[in-house]
Order: sequence, then structure tokens, then C-alpha cells
Amino acid sequence: MSEFLNVAEIFGENVFNDTVMQERLPKKTYKKLKEVIEEGKELDLETADVVAHEMKEWAIEKGATHYTHWFQPLTGVTAEKHDSFITAPMSNGKVLMSFSGKELIKGEPDASSFPSGGLRATFEARGYTAWDCTSPAFVRQDAAGATLCIPTAFCSYTGEALDQKTPLLRSMEAINEQSLRLLKLFGNTTSKKVTPSVGPEQEYFLVDREKYLKRKDLIFTGRTLFGAMPPKGQEMEDHYFGAIRERIAAYMKDVNKELWKLGVSAKTQHNEVAPAQHELAPIYAEANIAVDHNQLVMETLKKVAGRHGMTCLLHEKPFAGVNGSGKHNNWSITTDDGINLLDPGKTPHENIQFLLVLTCILKAVDKHADLLRESAADVGNDHRLGANEAPPAIISVFLGEQLQDVLSQLISTGEATRSLKGEVLQTGVKTLPDFMKDATDRNRTSPFAFTGNKFEFRMVGSNDSIAAPNVVLNTIVAEAFAEACDVLEKADDFDMAVHDLIKEQATEHQRIVFNGNGYSDEWVAEAERRGLPNIKSMVDAIPALTTDKAVNVFEKFGVFTKAELESRVEIQYENYAKAINIEARTMIDMAGKQIIPAVIKYTTSLANSINAVKAACDADVSVQTELLTETSDLLSDAKTALAKLIEATDKAAAMEEGREQAVCYRDDVKAAMDALRAPVDKLEMIVDKEMWPMPSYGDLIFEV
Ligand code: ADP
Ligand code: MG
Repeated sequence: MSEFLNVAEIFGENVFNDTVMQERLPKKTYKKLKEVIEEGKELDLETADVVAHEMKEWAIEKGATHYTHWFQPLTGVTAEKHDSFITAPMSNGKVLMSFSGKELIKGEPDASSFPSGGLRATFEARGYTAWDCTSPAFVRQDAAGATLCIPTAFCSYTGEALDQKTPLLRSMEAINEQSLRLLKLFGNTTSKKVTPSVGPEQEYFLVDREKYLKRKDLIFTGRTLFGAMPPKGQEMEDHYFGAIRERIAAYMKDVNKELWKLGVSAKTQHNEVAPAQHELAPIYAEANIAVDHNQLVMETLKKVAGRHGMTCLLHEKPFAGVNGSGKHNNWSITTDDGINLLDPGKTPHENIQFLLVLTCILKAVDKHADLLRESAADVGNDHRLGANEAPPAIISVFLGEQLQDVLSQLISTGEATRSLKGEVLQTGVKTLPDFMKDATDRNRTSPFAFTGNKFEFRMVGSNDSIAAPNVVLNTIVAEAFAEACDVLEKADDFDMAVHDLIKEQATEHQRIVFNGNGYSDEWVAEAERRGLPNIKSMVDAIPALTTDKAVNVFEKFGVFTKAELESRVEIQYENYAKAINIEARTMIDMAGKQIIPAVIKYTTSLANSINAVKAACDADVSVQTELLTETSDLLSDAKTALAKLIEATDKAAAMEEGREQAVCYRDDVKAAMDALRAPVDKLEMIVDKEMWPMPSYGDLIFEV
């Protein structure tokens, strides 16, 4: 029997959450801290000192010896530097455990080795981490013991954002302010704060650890760089939602337990489309916490896999020809008194506030489609977006039948007078309940789909932080709200003005709405006719960050300065070039040291056996000879391709960092990588399995 989990008891047990604060902090301190968290008031050092002390006491009770400022630099992963709580030894040789308010609110990691895109020269190593008290501190227990982790933002000496969290917090302020303005126009005087809510669905692969360790490509790059397709792929569709096998179930249970202790509300788990692929979704949370929690989810998925003899692959495309992994970013905007601005109600045509919000979002997404696309760009995601895989690289919005119908009425007559209703779903079986079905079916091919009371942005990569997409969403929608408020606040006749504005926005931005099949070729052609951007690679997506349009919107809402945007552009090109360089070098290594030698061994043994047969009798050796010729030809192709890859990689590596170098990696190096992979994958199908130097796709994805 497996261990019994009392979820209610363990949930959040390692989090310095509201309950703990209420229990442990003096009333006055608690009240002050709540004002900082909820109303954005400033934190004084006296309060910070008291909080720090209690936090330390609590963490030590949980076994913590160290604390760390936990932050999210632009490397894609989280960073931390651990300090123990001990003070300098006293005269009696003993130490005290201490943690001050100063240490809680400010850290000074050596920032020179984090990407800054020229914002901070290496000799100016100063960078600060600042406590983000809106995301609760937690104690992480692992092989290193227990550590108090304090979520922090990471900025340069001059206050420029060097991380994911700072712009996110700024964008949350922007959408809060503009949403409140909009709500006020509709007579709402009770809501005090508006927050974006985010629920990310995380996809991942699990492979056996022993096999993983035999593949340098997986170790160095997180994806396979060679590999012939197995006889069976995902065509039977027997894995999706299939029964979860014991080994995986045990793993998921362990993951859930770890996450629950950290206060992450892991909720859904199931098998995904591809063999060995799975998904985990938490219950949605405030954007800032959701972003932090998603990092914890990724860390936990990887950490726990090791304990179960497996490795978790978060790469967007670990296996060519097999479904890749993404992250669906569910997003809505909610007031502190529980109103979801994206809830259409039963009769959306009568819900003027909702229609205004909706058409503002259409406007925002249409105007800034390039920015949204960019926010989902990462090196691995290039294998999904624009590469004949879900979702397409063209941004469009799926509204579904009900809202589409309301919108069409608005556009054609200026008036919406009815809403389609959900019907009773009849199963035709007496013992099964009939229930009301939704007024709208789902569309899995849309990159930005309305799903009842939220939008689901489906482009995000499985390995990427969800911060950037939410920064963009919050900011561009804040802009659309602000522009609407500018018009409506001045209007003499509000009802008339809002009516006109909804119609105008719906009409002007209807080109972004598409309810059909996003994977079809017809859509690509249609989107081009509509003038929608189709940005196929990360390298082509990056320039969207510094267009005048982008700089304007980000500066207007104080989310990014131009300099910060420019630094991010630089970092992205660098990250791209570095990642492809590692992939190319890994291929060179594997081909030169493992694959070519193995093929030579195989041809030698083939040649020997031909000679042996010939010496023994005069039987027909044409099959062996044919195989030998075929293998030798492919071997020669591989060797030529390898030489070209080395040349292309050396050339790219010697270039100055920046856009041109990234383009060279994308166009020349990647082409040379493909050219090497082709003969090698053919060879894998010929060479004796015993001699092939690494586990095959079949071994990796069907035998977990
Ligand atoms: P799907 O059927 O789309 O796969 P899942 O249950 O896997 O749905 O995931 C949906 C995600 O959306 C969950 O994280 C859920 O908490 C989140 N979600 C639900 N409602 C909202 C909302 N109003 N705002 C943001 N996220 C939401
Ligand atoms: Mg799901």
C-alpha cells in the first residue's frame, strides 16, 4: 500500500502564508505588512526586522539552516545564493542564528555573471535583489537540507530590471490602475484592486534516467539531435488521457505532495498526446504568484523525476516527429471583490461592460500581435511555432459561436439583441445524466482562445517562464483600457459613447478573430490577406520588442524603458546563438566520437562476414554487399556533412554577438545540422542495434 496523503494537512505547510503570519506576527506588524502587500504601501525597516525575525524562527523550526533570495534572471531558470543564518562566533565559541530586516529586503548577489544585455558592464557588478512580499516565502527541503526561499526581484544598481519579475509587477500595476478607471465608468465604487489571474498548464516528457544518460544530446541540450522514428508513433492516439502507469502514477503523487507542501495547488494531471508525455495544471492564482509557482512546478518535476529513476524533459521538442510540449497560459482579470471582467454572464449581448472589455482585448491583441508572438519566443519553441505544429505562429483570437454571433450582430447592425444559448446535451442513454452543454465548443488550434471566462494563450513554450507573456498581456490590455477611458470619461452621453466605441473596436479589429482550423494552409493564406503577421522564428520575433509602437506602450505604463527593451533584445540574440552553438557542438561530438566509429565497426564486421562467407562457399553475398555499399555511401555523406557543420559552426562562433550572428546560426548552422542528421538517421535504420551507440526513440518513449 502506498503512503496515505492528508492533503488538507500538508497543503502549504512549508509556506510563510497569511495564516502563519497572523499567528506569529505581532498585530501591529501584521497589519502593516498586509498594507504593503495589499495596498502597495511602503515597507519600513522596523516592520521588516520583526517579520525577518519571525520568518527565521519559523524556518528554523522547519529545519532550515540557510536562506536565499530566490530570483528569476534572464537565463530562463531561477537563481539563488545561499547564506546560513549563523553570525560570527562569540567569545565562547558559539554562534547565534540571526536574520535582519535588511537581509530580508535586500540582497546583493554578484550580478556580473547574469545576462544584462549591456545594461551593466561586467566591472559594475552591483545588482540588487529586493523582497517581493506579494509572493510568500517558503522553505524548500531537499538533499541540501532545508532552505528559506525569499522571492525577490532583481535590478541593477541604477534600478533597471534584470529579471522577469520586475516588469511583471510593473505591468500588474498598470492593468490594475486602468481596470479601476474602466470599472468606475460603469458605476463600480466598491472594487479596490484588480489583478490578472493566471493558470498555466505545464506539459512535460519523462524518460528513463539510465537511457537518458546514454544520450549526450539530451544531457547537453534537452532534446534529441539524432533519432529515427520508431515503427509506432503517436498515431494510435492511445496515450492521451490513457490510464496512468504505476511508475508514472507514483511519480505524480510525489510531485503533488512536494508542490502541495509549497502551497502550489496542483490540480489536474493526465497523459498527453505523445507517448511519455504528460501534463500538470494548478488552480489559477494571481499572476505574480502563478509565475513563481510555475518555476517551482518545473523545478519539482525535474527534481522528483531523479528519485524515481527518470528524467523530466521540459524542452519544447525533445523528439522530432513526436508532439512537442507547451504551456497554456490561462488569463483573466478579477477584482478584489470577486468580479471577473472576462465573465460574459448568460446573456453577453446585454453585458455592456463585458463587450467593452472584450473589444478592448481584440484591439490590444490585433495591435500588438507581434509582441505577443515575441513573448512566446524561445529557442526550443521554434520547433513548434511556425513548424507545422500546434499552435501556428500567426496570432488570432478564437471567440466561439456565442460571442462571434454577438460580435457579428454588433458589426452589422450596431446592436446586439440576442445571445445563443447552451442546449441540453443528450447522451441517448437513460442512466446517464443529460446536462447543459456550453454555448461554445472548444477550438484546440487557436493560439489565443476565449474559453468561457478567460483567454487561453497557447503559444508559450514548456521550458519558458510565463512572465513575459503575462507582462505583454497586462500591458497591452492596460493600453486599450486607457484609450477607451480617455474617450468615455469625456463623453456627454456615456451610453451612446460606449455603444459607439464597442461597435468601432469590433469592426476595426475583426480581422484578428478566426474561429476555423488554425493548422490549415488556407488559414495561412487568409491571414496574409488580412495582413496578420506570420513570424516563423525567434530571431524574426525579437525585433518586435523595440519598434516605436512597443517602446511607446511599455514606456507609457512604466513597464520597460527603451534601454531595458534594448538590453532584452541583445540578451535574446545571445541566448539564441549560444543555444544553437551548443546543439551544433553536441552533434559534432556525437557524430565524430560515437556514431561514425560505430558505423565503421559495423561496415568492418559486414566486410569480414562477406569475406568469411566467400571463403567458406560460393553462396550469394549480394545482400551483404548491397548493405555494405549503402552503409558506406551514407557514412561518406555523414562525414562530409560533419565537416560542413564544423565549418559553419566555427564561422558563426567567430562572429560578433548580435542579430547577424543569430541569423547565421538560424540559417547556416541549423541547415548544416539538418544535413548531418539526415544520413545518420538513415544509418540508424540499417546498423545492427547492438552496435548503435545510444538508445533509440522507441527505447526512450515507449519504455518508461
Ligand atoms: P483544459 O481543459 O483547458 O486543459 P485545465 O483544467 O487543464 O483545462 O487547465 C485550465 C487552467 O485554467 C487551470 O489552471 C485553471 O485553474 C485555469 N483557470 C480556470 N479559470 C480561470 C480564470 N478565470 N482565470 C485564469 N485561469 C483560469
Ligand atoms: Mg489541460
